[in-house]
Amino acid sequence: MANNTKYIKNYIGGALQPALSGDYLDNFNPATGEVYSYIPDSDAKDVAAAVEAAEKAAPGWAQAEPRTRFRLLMRIADIIEQNLEEYARAESVDSGKPMSMARTVDIPRAQSNFRFFATSVLQFGSESHPMPGEAINFTLRQPLGVVGCISPWNLPLYLLSWKIAPALATGNTVVAKPSELTPMTAYLLSQACLEAGLPPGVLNIVHGLGPKTGQAIVEHPKVKAISFTGGTSTGKQIARTAAPEFKKLSLEMGGKNPNIIFADCDFDEMMVNTLRSSFSNNGQICLCGSRIYVERPIYERFRDELVKRTQFLKVDNPLSKDADLGALVSKQHLEKVQRYLELAEVEGGNILCGGEVLQLKGENEGGYFMRPAVVDGLAIDCRTNQEEIFGPVVTLAPFDTEEEALALANGTPYGLAASVWTQDISRANRVAERLQAGIVWVNCWMLRDLRTPFGGVKQSGVGREGGQEVLRFFTEPKNVCIKYG
Ligand code: NAD
Repeated sequence: MANNTKYIKNYIGGALQPALSGDYLDNFNPATGEVYSYIPDSDAKDVAAAVEAAEKAAPGWAQAEPRTRFRLLMRIADIIEQNLEEYARAESVDSGKPMSMARTVDIPRAQSNFRFFATSVLQFGSESHPMPGEAINFTLRQPLGVVGCISPWNLPLYLLSWKIAPALATGNTVVAKPSELTPMTAYLLSQACLEAGLPPGVLNIVHGLGPKTGQAIVEHPKVKAISFTGGTSTGKQIARTAAPEFKKLSLEMGGKNPNIIFADCDFDEMMVNTLRSSFSNNGQICLCGSRIYVERPIYERFRDELVKRTQFLKVDNPLSKDADLGALVSKQHLEKVQRYLELAEVEGGNILCGGEVLQLKGENEGGYFMRPAVVDGLAIDCRTNQEEIFGPVVTLAPFDTEEEALALANGTPYGLAASVWTQDISRANRVAERLQAGIVWVNCWMLRDLRTPFGGVKQSGVGREGGQEVLRFFTEPKNVCIKYG
């Protein structure tokens, strides 16, 4: 499908084009450490062109028959599905994640995002508030106009489409910016939009650096709302920029998620899922559990079993079908994770396994590979336990009481997700109620229903995505009050 992926292009006003400056940034393959393609180094002028195109397309798209929008979004999903292998390979090469994961998780979920929101908007209703004998109020939900969608590198097409699809389905036009570390599937998506016949300017994708391209999107006065997923410090910067303009904001940010494991849990089921929640995508999923608290009677058994299973994980070329873990996304990120492991030792932690940087052979010699690490012996308030590492590192600690487990779990500035493992349904309910998190999984992890609210509390987020929540975010409610004659 894609002819030239060496020079990625912006998608503006229905045309694929380089940055107006003609400048490019290097795009690295994290599994080889080599530059394998180039990204437009876009600036405020490219963003202004994208906003202009989006503004021009806005009235037609907002007034299009809902069925028209539905058909186009379904068509985009079909094109992604027909090219699953190409998309999965592109995602794997760009991000370092195993191709098996891109094929079974990332790309299927991107299709589902388009299908889910194409369909759900057809069933989206709004309220009416009758004043008997006097008047009727009804809520008219209208698109906002031009909106900005900014996404991170860890689940590139999955998270970009999680924003774009509901924004388009509700009748907005979009200026989107994928992460500069993983631009390739967004480029493939722009080609899919052309093939599907999406009207020019309805979706615009501008590539480039966060502080330059992303900042220009947030600053642009005609962009009415920003839906952002990424780090908490970037979210703060976006909030500072957008607040004086009173833009609508949805911020999905970092996490330091706790897993609470009680002694009465189904041990085998818990072990399988705890390994997944620790190291899927090299721990580079915002929902990964990075702090594991285990009730003391099973602490040693759990620790030894987790270390054993972690040591079995195969770190390899992400395109190899045997790879459990691929490469970390960038050299800078690998070095950041290494620094946290050094810090963990300084803070008194024991590295029970992993943490070594691996040098694979052949074409992967220069890739950013690391063995997954398990650490124990750290205090709750140390930096390793308080700051987001976002890599293949988990910390363990025992607890004695439910109260203590809750204090440990809630004892960070973050509040995205948590998992609880117990067979006691009353305890599960009590703990779920008191956890400071936007999402609580009981006896499972990453079991997702797209209808549910998705987001975090404290420093993990503002607002909710998913289901009806995001349809509300991308529309403005207007109350119309009609007095009876
Ligand atoms: P990041 O904040 O560095 O970048 C995210 C996006 O924001 C990128 O596209 C980047 O170019 C852009 N950006 C950077 N500076 C900007 C600015 N000043 N204005 C506008 N845009 C700007 O995050 P990352 O390193 O790409 O992703 C990792 C982070 O994302 C982790 O903290 C992780 O927890 C978080 N994350 C959160 C969720 C969630 O749903 N809560 C999901 C996935 C990832």
